[in-house]
Amino acid sequence: MAAAAAPHYRVGFEDRAQHLLRVSLTLPAPAERQGLALPVWLPGSYLLREFARHLQDLRATQGGRPVPLEQVDKTRWVAHCRGGAALELSWRVHALDPSVRGAWLDGERAFFNGSSLFLAAEGRTEGPQRLSLGRLPAGWDVATAMPRRAAAGQAYEAADYAELIDHPFELGRFWCGAFDVAGVPHELVVTGAWPGFDGARLLADATRLCRQQVRLWHGRGKPPFARYVFLLRAADDGYGGLEHRDSTALLASRGDLPRPGTAADDAGYLRLLGLISHEYFHAWNVKRLAPVELAAPDLGREAYTRLLWWFEGVTSYYDDLLLARSGLVTPAGYLGLLASHVQAVAATPGRRLQSVAQASFDAWTRFYRPDAHTPNGTVSYYAKGALVAACLDLTLRREGHGTLDEVLRRLWKLGRPVTEDDIADALAAVGGRSYRAELDDWVHGVGELPLPELLRHVGVAARAEQPGLAGRWGLRVQEGPVTGVTVRHVLRGGAAEAAGVQPGDELLAIDGWRLRRLDDAQAWLAPARPATLLLAREQRVLSLRVMPAEALVPTWRLAEAEDAPAAARERRRAWLGG
Ligand SMILES: [Zn+2]
Repeated sequence: MAAAAAPHYRVGFEDRAQHLLRVSLTLPAPAERQGLALPVWLPGSYLLREFARHLQDLRATQGGRPVPLEQVDKTRWVAHCRGGAALELSWRVHALDPSVRGAWLDGERAFFNGSSLFLAAEGRTEGPQRLSLGRLPAGWDVATAMPRRAAAGQAYEAADYAELIDHPFELGRFWCGAFDVAGVPHELVVTGAWPGFDGARLLADATRLCRQQVRLWHGRGKPPFARYVFLLRAADDGYGGLEHRDSTALLASRGDLPRPGTAADDAGYLRLLGLISHEYFHAWNVKRLAPVELAAPDLGREAYTRLLWWFEGVTSYYDDLLLARSGLVTPAGYLGLLASHVQAVAATPGRRLQSVAQASFDAWTRFYRPDAHTPNGTVSYYAKGALVAACLDLTLRREGHGTLDEVLRRLWKLGRPVTEDDIADALAAVGGRSYRAELDDWVHGVGELPLPELLRHVGVAARAEQPGLAGRWGLRVQEGPVTGVTVRHVLRGGAAEAAGVQPGDELLAIDGWRLRRLDDAQAWLAPARPATLLLAREQRVLSLRVMPAEALVPTWRLAEAEDAPAAARERRRAWLGG
């Protein structure tokens, strides 16, 4: 029997005021009981999002006659078909998710991930899938990495359903620039930027960064994609990205985009370059070099892996390191970025409870569903994973047999999804000995990492300084001149916890003096004496005594050690220079 013709999806943009994307599907030769389902999560973001909750008006016909639809669960329907005539389905999707993970439609732009829109036709997801876009409002353009089916019109084709939902679309009026990396065309699309944004600067810096990354993986060879597209949306306030095989969707604060005169060490601009670096690195690490559990996941339920520390942590290590190797941040600036990971882990008592392997496994219920308990109950596989990667790289370098770069290339050459054993084997092959003990301690254990000592070997000094009041008492607060000081987290083992401070408390005064910001109190507080803390909780005003204690979370600084021997300085140059 010849393969049935491809499912053909269409998306219409007429209902902009209602924020409803019109979607239809023509399915030639449907099954008698044709299953249809939307994913409940999308790759790269480990949370059940249950996209079907935004779906409405689902209808089905065959030859113009209605077809009964039976909803089976929160995300799945069965169409009871008669005969082989094509099944015609239509539905609408409410699209007002400003993140990079869902769908958006208003009078100015549209954005979508296929996972929010396209019901998969069960039994038909392996072959080609077609997509056509309806008429666009005047002046709108389309940006996506999905291959076009024909030169004319907005007709696209993906090799299978997994690819169909792995090419996000941006539509509207946007700024677009292009550059070339190892002969492969790259596009950078920016929507929502302030007038006067320095697109030429962003293009030039992205080019340097992407070339550095392709060199890391392939030397003088080509990247594994024929084209790559960055979809960057600038918003009032925001930060985030989602990786795809040939593209990425990015969200950044408008103020982080470069303007003429933006300094090279501008923290916001470095944050944006770091985000670009991170998501581009994922085109290799996780999208193609994937853990076995995520290589072809069931999108109807959670896919558990203990390896996010590698796929997010190693990516987080390299995103900033490659900024340094591209010359986009100075060595001192890079050490500041690395110190922020050290600081983040230090401020997470949950690191003593969960290993990064366990935190990876629990991503669905912990990291992606943060609450007041999160820093005490888990550890970020991004931040600690980045430090584990740094420890592995610096250990390999100290022993002189190789680097983590070579481990990455060795894994890449396997050309298949990987397990922790593959990672251990690649480390052993490059390092000339087993790294199982390190993996047991650093990845599966909950002890402190030996990073300060490893950094000393490359001429970098780690220094713990006296922190502000939040670090001293073990608090994470939100503060502003209008909102005051509100406690978000009370860290395990700190003076604030012992005193009875709770998440949600509004801190009003210390030792009789009104607080505007928590560190105001440093001016009058005597560290060796108990402090009287006045706070508001549930409309009541309470007074607590905070006892003097060792600082719970010191402030970590990393700097080039001035007295480092010449050999250590040389090793530092090799590490940060690639
Ligand atoms: Zn990531």
